[in-house]
Amino acid sequence: MADNEAFTYNGGKVEPGETQDIRYGISETYLGDPVRIPVTIINGEQPGPTVFLSAAAHGDELNGIEVVREVAYEWDLSDLAGTLVCMPVLNVPAFLAQQRYLPIYDRDLNRSFPGSETSTGAKRMAYRIYQNFIAPCDFGIDFHTSTRGRTNMLHVRADMSDPEVARLANAFGSHVIIDSTGSDGVLRTEASNRGTPAITVEMGEAHRFQRELIDEALAGVESVFAEYGLRTTSTVNWPGWRTVISRKNEKTWLRADSGGIVDMHHDRGALVHEGDRICTITNPFKDDNVTVVAPFTGLLVGVLENPVVYPGNPLCHLVELKDNVRRVVEREQSASPETPV
Ligand SMILES: [Zn+2]
Repeated sequence: MADNEAFTYNGGKVEPGETQDIRYGISETYLGDPVRIPVTIINGEQPGPTVFLSAAAHGDELNGIEVVREVAYEWDLSDLAGTLVCMPVLNVPAFLAQQRYLPIYDRDLNRSFPGSETSTGAKRMAYRIYQNFIAPCDFGIDFHTSTRGRTNMLHVRADMSDPEVARLANAFGSHVIIDSTGSDGVLRTEASNRGTPAITVEMGEAHRFQRELIDEALAGVESVFAEYGLRTTSTVNWPGWRTVISRKNEKTWLRADSGGIVDMHHDRGALVHEGDRICTITNPFKDDNVTVVAPFTGLLVGVLENPVVYPGNPLCHLVELKDNVRRVVEREQSASPETPV
């Protein structure tokens, strides 16, 4: 078999069989010091696809950091066919501040791709990341969590109308795929539109390492590696049941109509039936309780964690299930009622 090729970026080169840990400058601080992101490039001896794994584009979304680090440092990659570009912390300024957005003007790095050399600070950072480490890749996975105060069951977001993106999304083997093109400037959207098929994996809540979700995501990465032949030891994972939530499916963020303190009656991943009580909103005196019921039967993909709301704040993300999928989930959840899927 022919040897793999070297991976090159602006300022360096990683030969086949070589691993490099790089701190790559993408901007400068007020003091003129470099802002550098950690990048690990693992170039296998055997040829194969070049793949990026990235996390913390929102600086307080931590679960994905551990996924990327464990693939880079704890997996035996001696048989790797292809190249991995591992970026555990994309948004270093926001990570240092433990907040979602870039601290300067609260810019969203994940609305700034593919970036620009001459535009805002966020777009310049995005440009250096994109040109050097995303554009050279054949495909990639960007890890996120829910926004602060909420939590998600693990799911994939992908544009399923693009066959290459759909192949990647299916290979990850999650129960739930939300089919959407994504907003302008989102890493997976811009990469997919420019020849690097990409998916977002949403998992859990901000500011946490959640072991069971990290393990679930690692199984997804292993399954993707099997699908594309990066590792001979892996096999493609079938999750048992899967639902693709398309634009046609009913899905909604249920919002509070009154302010108060929220008693959530279900975990993320629970199946609720039409009319079931999802949560109760109470006042400090525990009178005038407002009960929020499910408007249709579906899966609670995301729920509130921080139990306080103003009117208009989201309570939960409910998605419709097809009848055959619903029956499988019902069987699964009645077999182990305490375990969120
Ligand atoms: Zn995010």
